[in-house]
Amino acid sequence: MSVLPIITHPNDAVLRRKALKVIDFGSKFQELIDNMVETMLDAPGVGLAAPQVASKERVIVVRLPDDEESKKEYGEQAGVLYVVANPKIVKASREMVEGVEACLSIPGWFGTVERHEEVLITGEDRMGKAQRIKAKGWLARVFQHEIDHLDGRLFIDIAKEIWEDKPEDEEKAAGEKPRRRFRIKRPPAE
Ligand SMILES: [Zn+2]
Repeated sequence: MSVLPIITHPNDAVLRRKALKVIDFGSKFQELIDNMVETMLDAPGVGLAAPQVASKERVIVVRLPDDEESKKEYGEQAGVLYVVANPKIVKASREMVEGVEACLSIPGWFGTVERHEEVLITGEDRMGKAQRIKAKGWLARVFQHEIDHLDGRLFIDIAKEIWEDKPEDEEKAAGEKPRRRFRIKRPPAE
């Protein structure tokens, strides 16, 4: 297993391409999954889509943290590793919720994005076996964010507002109070 370099916006067109259906669940695909999981945990992140590591495969990995707070809120789903090939949202709640998102491919940027509160996802597991996942709250948000990646969509495309947050130590070094710079609907350096 190895940690793969994460492609960052706007440096590579692979982030904007539609990922292709996974057909071959063989050893090359298994290696990709192992590497994606390692890359996500190393980042650290709660989700990763194949285009972010320059792959065209239609697959995502998702894992919420398993700390106490997360366990309280997400119960059995905290700490579970989800690998979903060819994911599809087959049902989505009418209720929409606003929340703050970030992306390993857009380091330092945050945005407010409206997402479905609950989704039902179908797809295959890493061996190609059919699976269904019910997700709500943060988990539902992560799935929607990652599935968007497979269609070349980034959260900055649909965010109500986005802003850049400097890392804290950088702020301290500059002797400034942490601040947020809001930029409405303007993706970074595109
Ligand atoms: Zn992302």
